[in-house]
Amino acid sequence: MNKKLPVLAPGATIGILGGGQLGRMLALAAAELGLKCHIYAPEMDSCAFDVSAAQTCAAYEDEAALAKFADAVDVVTYEFENIPAATAKFLWSRKPVFPDPSVLETTQDRIVEKTFVNRLGIATPKFAAVDSIATLKQAVAGIGTPSVLKTRRLGYDGKGQATIKRAEEAEAAFASIGSAPSILEQFVPFRREVSVVAARGRDGKVVAFDTTENLHRDHILHKSRVPARMPDALGGQAIVIATKIAEALNYVGVLAVEMFVLDESGKLKLLVNEIAPRVHNSGHWTMDGATASQFEQHIRAVAGWPLAKPRRLGNVEMTNLIGAEANDWEKLAAEPGACVHLYGKGEARAGRKMGHVTRITKDTESIIR
Ligand code: AMP
Repeated sequence: MNKKLPVLAPGATIGILGGGQLGRMLALAAAELGLKCHIYAPEMDSCAFDVSAAQTCAAYEDEAALAKFADAVDVVTYEFENIPAATAKFLWSRKPVFPDPSVLETTQDRIVEKTFVNRLGIATPKFAAVDSIATLKQAVAGIGTPSVLKTRRLGYDGKGQATIKRAEEAEAAFASIGSAPSILEQFVPFRREVSVVAARGRDGKVVAFDTTENLHRDHILHKSRVPARMPDALGGQAIVIATKIAEALNYVGVLAVEMFVLDESGKLKLLVNEIAPRVHNSGHWTMDGATASQFEQHIRAVAGWPLAKPRRLGNVEMTNLIGAEANDWEKLAAEPGACVHLYGKGEARAGRKMGHVTRITKDTESIIR
């Protein structure tokens, strides 16, 4: 379905699966380019509904609703990577879907994903598949401790993960993640976490934003900043890795590749942790800190437009507003130069991403806290 597709002209409609803040910011970016978005999401209170031209609130398994949605849009994309494979295939048989649903098969399973990355000659943390206590014990013996046990599917923000510090803790760790099919990974004593957010157009051209440094708190992204504190050459190497992955997936749209920077006896090395087949929280800084955002790039890519060639506007730091932190909106709104984004979500529950604030400066050190 993805062959010989015309470029979408202003006025055309992009269907987006998923109605969270990423869908919301995609819809806003599309509107800036004169394109419309139709959001499909199962949750009534989806914050992307507020800013889109059309909305469908239905389950991902509801084929009647999916068929109607497909009829109403020119192209389909997603803001959420755990779309059931059957949903993506159903839509693909009716309308072009970008990125191609086959990408989800690679990225929805951590073993398939890391195996794919290794086959490209790109390093990941050492890993082994686990599906029973017996295979877990074998994996712990092979990989050693400390190690991290993660469910193969559906994990995010540290959910479905357990650290194993000593071999005796293995059984309890497996039980804590519901004894689900898992991956055991070597624990990487990383120096930094970084990511590359890159866009690939329908014409195969790749444009990446500068490598971004990410700081997590309680497994949730707390801050992203550019430039990352790493040698420029290593930042460039991270972009080469992300480009190789985007090309191998024949990807169309924006993707993020999360990596660890490891110091191996004084030599810095990159290990790929995860591929996110969508716009990504670590790219939110681009809304204010670059001449074109990751959201605009994604819309351009799926619409068949040429990608923008964004320029960075300074040293940028993005801070997430998690849960009650968003209650400080009045203070943040009064801060000179702060760019405040609130997602219009209802209750500020603990751990919920409610908004973000971006600060741009000529002096990186002055914004590092
Ligand atoms: P993930 O869901 O794989 O992105 O993991 C969430 C976070 O847990 C990462 O951003 C890291 O901070 C940490 N983490 C995940 N895997 C590892 C690992 N193999 N070694 C060390 N830390 C990890």
